[in-house]
Amino acid sequence: MFMGHYAPAIWLGRDEKNGAPIKLWQAFLAVQMIDIVFFVLVGFGFEGTLISNGDPIFNIPWSHSLFSSLLLSGLAGLGFKLWKKLSGWRAFWVVSGLVFSHWILDFIVHRPDLPLFPGADEVYGLGVWNFPWLAYFLEVGLLFFGFVYWVSHTKPLQLQYRIAPWVLFVLMGGIQFMIVTMPGLQVQNGTFDPTSQPQGVFLSVSGLMTFFALAGTIGWIEAGRVLKTD
Ligand SMILES: [Zn+2]
Repeated sequence: MFMGHYAPAIWLGRDEKNGAPIKLWQAFLAVQMIDIVFFVLVGFGFEGTLISNGDPIFNIPWSHSLFSSLLLSGLAGLGFKLWKKLSGWRAFWVVSGLVFSHWILDFIVHRPDLPLFPGADEVYGLGVWNFPWLAYFLEVGLLFFGFVYWVSHTKPLQLQYRIAPWVLFVLMGGIQFMIVTMPGLQVQNGTFDPTSQPQGVFLSVSGLMTFFALAGTIGWIEAGRVLKTD
């Protein structure tokens, strides 16, 4: 899953006063923490994509095993709690939960490629990506409800912050279309081969840049919207 990962982060972003002990831009990085590790490992050639029975799957034993994901979730929660000393255990659970939400959503869409621990032979995944349009509307739909929730619980300080969330939503929907639906449809036509894609370094850098650009953008919009008090 790609853009759908942001739904839990945005949903949380509505309520900073009573609800979320974490900024929306931080939540944006938390939900993609597992993929951030993945893209770093891709850059060094430790992980990547491969073809299994004609379908593209990921080779992600280190970043995406259930064990690594739980470990990373716990470490991220602990790290946040130490960084923001006043945030308490609630922040630990929120951050850990956001990081781990990535694995749950990936489990739904991935073709089986998620092991229980690094090096395990058995891999899991419900494979919604085999139905590209269903996967597309699932991810963008999740994202849409997140945005509606956030926008309806906050109000813009200036006009540009009223428009910006929807410009960002359309942009994210466009990115999702490019990275899932196109290869997905090409897989069904038998014309997509991820091993012929550009080098891992390109994949790594473009992936990481996308994550940090999205976190930066949401941080900018977040600063221009305040919680509704009525
Ligand atoms: Zn992932």
